[in-house]
Amino acid sequence: MEKPKFFNHTLAELTTAIKGLGKEGFRAQQLYRWVHQLGVQDFDKMTNFSKEFRKEVPEMFDFCLPEILKVHKSVDGTTKILFNVGAGKSVEAVLIPSTDRLTICLSSEVGCNMACKFCYTGKQKLQRKLETWEIVGQFVQAARLLEPGQRISNIVFMGMGEPLDNPDAVFKSIEILHSEWGLNVSRKRVTVSTSGIVPLIPRVTEAGVRLAVSLNGVNDKIRSEVMPINKRWPLEQLLQACREHCEATGDKVTFEYVLLKGVTDSLQDARDLHDLTRTVPCKINIIPFNEHPESGFTRPAEQDIVRFQNELIRLGSHVLRRKTMGRDIYAACGQLTTAVKKSPEPQLTL
Ligand code: SAH
Ligand code: SF4
Repeated sequence: MEKPKFFNHTLAELTTAIKGLGKEGFRAQQLYRWVHQLGVQDFDKMTNFSKEFRKEVPEMFDFCLPEILKVHKSVDGTTKILFNVGAGKSVEAVLIPSTDRLTICLSSEVGCNMACKFCYTGKQKLQRKLETWEIVGQFVQAARLLEPGQRISNIVFMGMGEPLDNPDAVFKSIEILHSEWGLNVSRKRVTVSTSGIVPLIPRVTEAGVRLAVSLNGVNDKIRSEVMPINKRWPLEQLLQACREHCEATGDKVTFEYVLLKGVTDSLQDARDLHDLTRTVPCKINIIPFNEHPESGFTRPAEQDIVRFQNELIRLGSHVLRRKTMGRDIYAACGQLTTAVKKSPEPQLTL
């Protein structure tokens, strides 16, 4: 019989499992701490366990983690990690350092079914939803690559896949990563980014984590053209769900807005974006399009990007441009798992 996977367990589930095997429940907390916090998987080092229990632990659980296939390190410190998820498939996580934080961008699915026209992951169609242990495992494996004293402080679900298309595994992963006996990542330092699966936004609210929404269009016509999900849940429904999230949490929503030349980057678009978002407590993150083969879109000229941002600033929107990092490691939004050789424009914007 297959052993249950350790990294699928919340602390409550691990406690139940350990009790079910006739052991004291508090052993679960101890085991969680050893493995998650101290990164120990050599059971002989678990000195507060009896010799007998040290032998039993690996028989009870499978401690498997997604296998690292490749690590690309950028000159600016950004690290992209490629994981083998079986059947010839892979996903990626990206570590992004900045002055006051170390953020990890996690994948939730292999491919994505939302079919956003500008997104390379969307072209790859959904092949499989990741399991909890594979999401937690990206974090755990990345943390093991860090220098002593370094710690991942923030998590963004902005890698491959639509997190709200795989909500059970995503929210369970957040519970595990948040546990004080585990990795202890504060809920307010976790951001779930969605293309707009409206009925599931309340789960983001309940989980107490931050919400980011990929807007990418200033009216239903344009948005439906670039993001087919808008036909199912149009803008007004999406914005209403965002308002409810803000009311319940007191947080701001982050609206991501990809600048596509001639499609979403005009001055009028900037004005419409301001008008559209002013009824929601928010900040706007503009992301100049990262080009990839056969997308049919192009990145606006630098002066048009700046003009767009300045117009939003003039109107009073809280707007940030995502910093482009990792030019040399081929890790842009919407480009993940593009074969290194094929990527025309190696960039990471986060
Ligand atoms: N599926 C989720 C999270 C992953 S995509 C979502 O759509 O929100 C993360 C962000 O990258 C989204 O805001 C998306 O609009 C953006 N993105 C996708 N492809 C891109 C590209 N080629 N260039 C720039 N941003 C892109
Ligand atoms: Fe999926 Fe997000 Fe890409 Fe859309 S932008 S296809 S939802 S990963």
